[in-house]
Amino acid sequence: MVHVVLPSGQGVDLDRGDLLSVLRERGETGAALLVDGELRDLRDPLPPSGEVQVVPLDHPAALEVLRHTASHVLAHAVTRLFPGVQLAIGPAIEDGFYYDFRFPEPLTRDDLPRIQEEMEKIVREDHPIERVWLPRAEAEALLRGRGEDYKLELLREIPDERISFYRQGEFIDLCRGPHLPSTGLVRHFALLDLAGAYWRGDAARDMLTRVYGTAFPTGEALAEHLRWREEARKRDHRTLGPELDLFSIQNETVGAGLVLWHPKGAALRHQIETFWKEEHYKAGYQLVYTPHIGRARLWETSGHLDFYREGMYSPMAVEGQEFYLKPMNCPFHIAIYKTRTRSYRDLPIRYAELGTVYRFERSGVLHGLLRVRGFTQDDAHIICRPDQIEDEVAACLDLTLHILGAFGFRDFKVALSVRDPAGKEHYIGSDGMWDEAERSLVRALEGKGLSYTRMEGEAVFYGPKIDIHVLDSLKRSWQLTTIQFDFNEPERFDMAYIGDDGAAHRPYMVHRALLGSLERFFGILIEHYGGAFPPWLAPVQAAVLPVTEGEIPYAEGVAAELRRAGIRAEAWTKERKTLRWLIREAQLQKVPYMLVCGAREAAAGVVALRLRTGEDLGAHPVAAVADRIRHRVAERSLEL
Ligand SMILES: [Zn+2]
Ligand SMILES: [Zn+2]
Repeated sequence: MVHVVLPSGQGVDLDRGDLLSVLRERGETGAALLVDGELRDLRDPLPPSGEVQVVPLDHPAALEVLRHTASHVLAHAVTRLFPGVQLAIGPAIEDGFYYDFRFPEPLTRDDLPRIQEEMEKIVREDHPIERVWLPRAEAEALLRGRGEDYKLELLREIPDERISFYRQGEFIDLCRGPHLPSTGLVRHFALLDLAGAYWRGDAARDMLTRVYGTAFPTGEALAEHLRWREEARKRDHRTLGPELDLFSIQNETVGAGLVLWHPKGAALRHQIETFWKEEHYKAGYQLVYTPHIGRARLWETSGHLDFYREGMYSPMAVEGQEFYLKPMNCPFHIAIYKTRTRSYRDLPIRYAELGTVYRFERSGVLHGLLRVRGFTQDDAHIICRPDQIEDEVAACLDLTLHILGAFGFRDFKVALSVRDPAGKEHYIGSDGMWDEAERSLVRALEGKGLSYTRMEGEAVFYGPKIDIHVLDSLKRSWQLTTIQFDFNEPERFDMAYIGDDGAAHRPYMVHRALLGSLERFFGILIEHYGGAFPPWLAPVQAAVLPVTEGEIPYAEGVAAELRRAGIRAEAWTKERKTLRWLIREAQLQKVPYMLVCGAREAAAGVVALRLRTGEDLGAHPVAAVADRIRHRVAERSLEL
């Protein structure tokens, strides 16, 4: 007998029995089983003991089951509407679900409404969803009979003799589950989008059509999500980038995944870089510059040619030597370290560089500024003695929170990745080193009062790490910072320092990037602010707007005065437009400050100050406006 808590909160003692019929008899609706916190199918045999809960449809753990069931409803509808379609895979994802298909004819967005309609019909028909176990031979015959080549490929990878299928009405799909009891429970869903997706993510295989959708337990939650999506769509950096003339990526002329920073994007980047460099000097870092290419032997020593080759571009030959574009900056920093004998008194050494690296990414995964092929890491390597490691990690975390805070990020999620304790042989470095490194990471996090999730088995083979994710204004999580121990490269490059005992010792090395890469960070900043950057980052801080042609000289004088005060100001005198047009344009360009110059203002030597929020602050002397802007900039204020 096992005690089962039902969705109503009532408990029942059950032997094994058919849980679905127990629920039906009691008029309760369940979505899935939680067995000791693990999600299972309602149709699974009950465990002999343990804590078993039938979760209701609106339980957070049930969302995945709901969405995966919605993906089956989608596939069901598609097989009705498009005979001859082939099914690939249809998982639940973070905020919805998708299903990959190979359509006999290309699908367009215009087809989505009628697919949605057919799905609604399948929901109304309320088909019970059954789990069917087929012997392998029968499963194969079924799929072969329907010409389901992708499913057959998946089947070959399932080692079991009995194969799990789920059936609803006339539709049956190879699937591990879990699923809801019936299609009628998928009430609040929407199809969202189409995209191309390679079968198994492999560019050498078939291009399939991915249909995206989402589903929620309530209509309100769905409506809220659709509003959120619309807001995210408006903030998409791939739209705002060209609109605000910040950057471009030109696949045909320049190459995919390679970013051109336009003057306005570059002005913003200059602010990021200047701030970053100054704060690093203040924190005791030394800035270095290193080349974009390095000899093959360097990457052999570092090990990148062994364990990172697929992320690197083909070598180029120069005077009979092979060179590679750098995928990482570390070997160069180590080469600087090794130009001298370092004593224990020289440590810690902290080399920082805005280092541009090139990594191979398949064209299918490139995504605006978020996933590119050439990018500038805000990289640093901290080389120190074992007794310094704790302070170094703590200081690194301080700097991270300070810098991310200045950009307006105050909500963090932290993950600590450590070894899989059951597979220690897959990692290099001694137990003592792993323990010491992990302890320093934990103490630093606890010292800052940051809660974190410990991820066992998530560490890379050469050391534990902390990843920091920020939550943006739409509560989306972005991974920015990584603080990563490395027990590998100091060994491979035979790094040493002379201890107070006169003997050579191996230093610790930590790689860290706070912003991640400037390109990706820029993309996230654009979306976080929806392009309306705070004054210190805004590419153009002030637009000076003459009311008529007569005020052009005055406006130009005002802009020049602001520029002398260190403010990025432009007089908008090239186009003869109405003031209304100019103000609207400045608002579209999200310029924080508009300085309107009419005849009256020109005569009085003042400007009428407007904010991009629409607020009209009236007449002010130019010097007062300059003071206000400079003050906001100096404080890196988010206010105007
Ligand atoms: Zn399924
Ligand atoms: Zn590194």
